[in-house]
Amino acid sequence: MKQGIHPEYNRINVVCTTCGNEFESGSVKKEIRVDTCSNCHPFYTGRQKFAQADGRIERFNKKYGINTK
Ligand SMILES: [Zn+2]
Repeated sequence: MKQGIHPEYNRINVVCTTCGNEFESGSVKKEIRVDTCSNCHPFYTGRQKFAQADGRIERFNKKYGINTK
Protein backbone atom coordinates (compact mmCIF):
# COMPACT_ATOMS: atom_id res chain seq x y z
CA MET A 1 0.00 0.00 0.00
CA LYS A 2 1.09 3.53 -0.68
CA GLN A 3 2.12 5.38 2.46
CA GLY A 4 0.35 8.44 3.78
CA ILE A 5 -2.83 8.33 1.72
CA HIS A 6 -4.86 5.69 3.53
CA PRO A 7 -7.04 6.60 6.51
CA GLU A 8 -6.40 4.66 9.67
CA TYR A 9 -8.62 1.63 9.84
CA ASN A 10 -9.49 0.62 13.37
CA ARG A 11 -11.17 -2.23 15.12
CA ILE A 12 -13.91 -0.36 16.95
CA ASN A 13 -16.97 -0.90 19.08
CA VAL A 14 -20.35 -0.15 17.61
CA VAL A 15 -22.82 0.85 20.30
CA CYS A 16 -26.56 0.54 19.90
CA THR A 17 -28.33 3.43 21.62
CA THR A 18 -31.61 1.54 21.85
CA CYS A 19 -30.63 -1.64 23.64
CA GLY A 20 -27.05 -0.88 24.66
CA ASN A 21 -25.68 -3.79 22.68
CA GLU A 22 -22.07 -3.54 21.58
CA PHE A 23 -20.34 -5.35 18.80
CA GLU A 24 -17.02 -5.09 17.08
CA SER A 25 -16.55 -3.76 13.61
CA GLY A 26 -14.01 -2.01 11.50
CA SER A 27 -14.06 1.66 10.65
CA VAL A 28 -11.93 4.72 10.17
CA LYS A 29 -13.99 6.28 12.95
CA LYS A 30 -13.24 5.75 16.64
CA GLU A 31 -16.76 4.78 17.57
CA ILE A 32 -20.10 4.28 15.90
CA ARG A 33 -23.49 4.73 17.51
CA VAL A 34 -26.51 3.20 15.88
CA ASP A 35 -30.23 3.52 16.60
CA THR A 36 -30.97 -0.13 16.11
CA CYS A 37 -28.97 -3.30 15.75
CA SER A 38 -29.47 -6.98 15.06
CA ASN A 39 -30.16 -7.50 18.76
CA CYS A 40 -33.19 -5.23 19.00
CA HIS A 41 -34.45 -4.69 15.47
CA PRO A 42 -37.98 -6.08 15.04
CA PHE A 43 -36.91 -7.99 11.95
CA TYR A 44 -34.59 -10.11 14.07
CA THR A 45 -36.55 -10.19 17.30
CA GLY A 46 -39.84 -10.95 15.57
CA ARG A 47 -41.52 -8.34 17.69
CA GLN A 48 -43.04 -5.01 16.79
CA LYS A 49 -42.41 -2.46 19.49
CA PHE A 50 -42.83 0.93 17.86
CA ALA A 51 -44.68 0.71 14.58
CA GLN A 52 -47.96 -0.57 15.96
CA ALA A 53 -47.94 1.40 19.19
CA ASP A 54 -50.57 3.92 18.16
CA GLY A 55 -51.51 3.31 14.58
CA ARG A 56 -54.31 4.93 12.64
CA ILE A 57 -56.06 1.63 12.09
CA GLU A 58 -55.89 0.84 15.79
CA ARG A 59 -57.34 4.22 16.69
CA PHE A 60 -60.08 3.81 14.09
CA ASN A 61 -60.97 0.39 15.43
CA LYS A 62 -60.99 1.67 19.00
CA LYS A 63 -63.15 4.61 18.06
CA TYR A 64 -65.79 2.42 16.46
CA GLY A 65 -65.45 -0.39 18.96
CA ILE A 66 -64.03 -2.94 16.55
CA ASN A 67 -62.14 -5.66 18.37
CA THR A 68 -59.31 -6.98 16.23
CA LYS A 69 -57.72 -9.24 18.78
ZN1 LIG B 1 -29.86 -2.71 19.62
